[in-house]
Amino acid sequence: MKEYNYCPICATLLQMGTLEGRERKYCPKCDFVDYKNPLPVALAVAVKDKRFLLIKRGLPPVKGMWASPSGFIEIGETSEEACLRELKEETGVSGEIVKLIGVLRIEDKEIYGDMLIIAYLVKVKDGELTPGDEVEDARFFDIAELPGYYSLLFKDSIEEIQNQEIF
Ligand SMILES: [Zn+2]
Repeated sequence: MKEYNYCPICATLLQMGTLEGRERKYCPKCDFVDYKNPLPVALAVAVKDKRFLLIKRGLPPVKGMWASPSGFIEIGETSEEACLRELKEETGVSGEIVKLIGVLRIEDKEIYGDMLIIAYLVKVKDGELTPGDEVEDARFFDIAELPGYYSLLFKDSIEEIQNQEIF
């Protein structure tokens, strides 16, 4: 993970100290504290006709891996809005939130560190499947052909989808 060495506000060399019970970097000049918080990510477990829409990641982390469309929540956006925006950007299709699946903590050792993943079950509505600039590919998977790690992570959702008429 990339780290601040200098204050991003006033460019003074940061110092290490115990602040609010944790070792943190802080600026001795302007009181900036380098808090480390998980980055919020919205993720769409997107489904149509009991098939899952996955993207092949075009950027690190886990470049080249098949995963659900996801991305960082922007300022001023709700997690639901971010979820549907990322779905649209990465696959070209629009969707409708069905429900919150859950909130997961994932540690990305490549770039971002701790991430807070807010996963929604999304019903795919309209649009043509067109992989976005940041993905290598996008396609629907039958439940039987889902990658093992994906089936494990979203086991409960897969069961639910198999048993529900709306999908
Ligand atoms: Zn400063």
